[in-house]
Amino acid sequence: EAKGRGRNTFHFFDQAMNSRAIRRLDIEMALRHAISAGQLELHYQPKIASANGAITGVEALVRWRRPGEGLIQPDEFIPLAEESDLIVAVGEWVLHQACAQIKAWRAKGFGDVPVAINLSPRHFRRDKDLDGIIATVEAAGIPPHLIEIEVTETTLMHDPEKAIALLQRLRDRGFGIAIDDFGSGYSNLSYLRRLPITTLKIDRAFVMDIEHNQDNIEIIRAIIAMANALSLGLVAEGVENERQFAFLRNSDCAVVQGYYFSRPLPPAELESLLQRPRSPHPALDIMGLTTL
Ligand code: C2E
Ligand code: MG
Ligand code: MG
Ligand code: MG
Repeated sequence: EAKGRGRNTFHFFDQAMNSRAIRRLDIEMALRHAISAGQLELHYQPKIASANGAITGVEALVRWRRPGEGLIQPDEFIPLAEESDLIVAVGEWVLHQACAQIKAWRAKGFGDVPVAINLSPRHFRRDKDLDGIIATVEAAGIPPHLIEIEVTETTLMHDPEKAIALLQRLRDRGFGIAIDDFGSGYSNLSYLRRLPITTLKIDRAFVMDIEHNQDNIEIIRAIIAMANALSLGLVAEGVENERQFAFLRNSDCAVVQGYYFSRPLPPAELESLLQRPRSPHPALDIMGLTTL
């Protein structure tokens, strides 16, 4: 009897593993198809100069409009895509689309809007994957300084020397490079100096807790001091309320991003912010600030 139950348990386990594997394969195949079928789209979240409310650029965030399933958020498919080279294809598509959008905004008279894109660690393992990034931007005729590549600290962990060399190649071309979710990893000042980066993005987790957690206030101050010491740009992400914004502004954090100002928006909605003669948030109007 025990033996039989054991076998059933195994059988059940196998089935559970199977259906998970099948589900994963299903998503992977569907995602591969989604790229060519035009089911991916980019939404854009503005980055705001804390001094005057100007939109300094936008971050492109990918979504998957899957027929019958609605809009799927990146957390539901990016981690899976990152398990294979599929993520390299996603990254290429995102960059291609971002370049097309920069051109479209130019043509519509919005001027040059800098766009940040997120690239996964896998893009920093092989020269040929990075070649694709450089070729895409070149083919689009976009000046690389309009593209900021966001990478997380973990990007560098697999093979730091290789990743640094690949980042350097982008930097040499004039791309901006930001460390995303900064503060959640282990980078120290002496390590950071070695990285060919232009910007630190303070992890949302620290910003979120500002009102209740003195430690996070100290961490944010330390990150700001680090960025200043290394002459790096600074962005605080995940700003959701006035108090968080006030703290960051008073602490000389130059650029802020978060739901308090705007969620990531489809291009047409973003355009209405770009068009506005006044700042994108009433709080900034109250301070007498306008969009440049
Ligand atoms: P991330 O690059 O750190 O992007 C910030 C995430 O925080 C976005 O979620 C954004 O919508 C969300 N966010 C922005 N402001 C706020 C706020 O005030 N409060 C809160 N609670 N959240 C805020 P999203 O779009 O779901 O993206 C999640 C993550 O997926 C991104 O984190 C990034 O790591 C990844 N991702 C998104 N698009 C791409 C892509 O094109 N390629 C790759 N490789 N990864 C991507
Ligand atoms: Mg990002
Ligand atoms: Mg982030
Ligand atoms: Mg993140």
